[in-house]
Amino acid sequence: MKSARIPGPNKPLTISESENPKPRGTQVLLKVKSEGVCHSDLHLWEGGYDLGDGQFLKVTDRGVKYPVTPGHEIVGTIEEIGESVSNVSVGDDVLVFPWMGCGECPACKVGNENLCDTPKSMGLFQNGGYADYTLIPDSKYLAKLDGVDPDAATSLACSGLTAYTAIKKANQNSPEFLVIIGAGGLGLMGVQIASEITDAKIICVDLDDKKLETAKEMGAHFTVNSKNPETVQKIMSICNDKGADSVIDFVNAPPTVKTGLDILRKRGNLVLVGLFGGSLELSLVTIPLKSIIIQGAYTGNYNDMVELLALARKGTINPVISKRYSLDEANTALEDLKARKIIGRAVINP
Ligand code: NAD
Ligand code: ZN
Repeated sequence: MKSARIPGPNKPLTISESENPKPRGTQVLLKVKSEGVCHSDLHLWEGGYDLGDGQFLKVTDRGVKYPVTPGHEIVGTIEEIGESVSNVSVGDDVLVFPWMGCGECPACKVGNENLCDTPKSMGLFQNGGYADYTLIPDSKYLAKLDGVDPDAATSLACSGLTAYTAIKKANQNSPEFLVIIGAGGLGLMGVQIASEITDAKIICVDLDDKKLETAKEMGAHFTVNSKNPETVQKIMSICNDKGADSVIDFVNAPPTVKTGLDILRKRGNLVLVGLFGGSLELSLVTIPLKSIIIQGAYTGNYNDMVELLALARKGTINPVISKRYSLDEANTALEDLKARKIIGRAVINP
């Protein structure tokens, strides 16, 4: 098998060749058809996350070991199965649930493996899908595509799933106005899902007019370019000067969170999703006085991924796939994402 691997932080990916692994027990060998390129792959490539004030959270301190094969948005065809696999068959096209857990901690026990205390996520803590073949540890993590386009399905394992979790959290106070900050891979999925499952008027914020145009096509009722110094006033006037009921920040950097807090109305709900990072000083009394909720959202669980596949099958969500690369072009794919050249998602077709 051929893999594009990150040798260490900030080093170009290298192609390595090895023997195809033989699936045993519950394991499955997948021939990768399509692999989504996510901004989180860039954080893994850069070696970690910005904590602000010159501090950096290294992925190696979270348990990542280089060299690692990135890729957690994996769609493939089953090539071979272990002797105990019965829920899928050779030849099936499947989407992988990559947020694997230990199976024993309190989160795993209620089906939220994505929130496991000792996560084993693919493309992070174990090798992922930037490869022509990949070994899946257990067939229970697979969901059949049954007609969903393979390239489009990739993004349902991460960007779609994360957006779905975040929209559900943001919808808890039945928002009249929902602000979505960041119209990238996650944000554009968020706009589509919010149009489908909420009654909110959606306001989308980004720095890039082209991405905002796409957001409008996907169902955003209003768009605001945050390069505009009057961003806060513009959003406030759209929200009848009361502010937004819910804000989802798919960037989550100091300027966007500051905007989010400034536009949040009393009893508002701020959901932080992006991993751009940094730090911010908070005005503490406004939190109780406005009785706001600030919460995080991290990926989603297997059942939500299956629900999303059903929405994609019905055609109610259509992930935007704007660029395709070969495995040998993995470095270019990541560079293009970093340079903000990708609308929606790019995929690697090994
Ligand atoms: P992306 O690169 O496709 O999109 C980011 C978007 O944010 C772009 O449209 C960009 O123009 C916009 N942006 C950047 N800075 C901005 C600013 N200051 N103001 C307004 N807009 C700004 O990235 P993505 O794949 O959508 O991922 C977004 C973030 O979410 C990344 O940090 C990624 O690692 C993270 N992520 C989090 C989870 C989770 O579970 N919490 C899951 C997947 C990805
Ligand atoms: Zn991702």
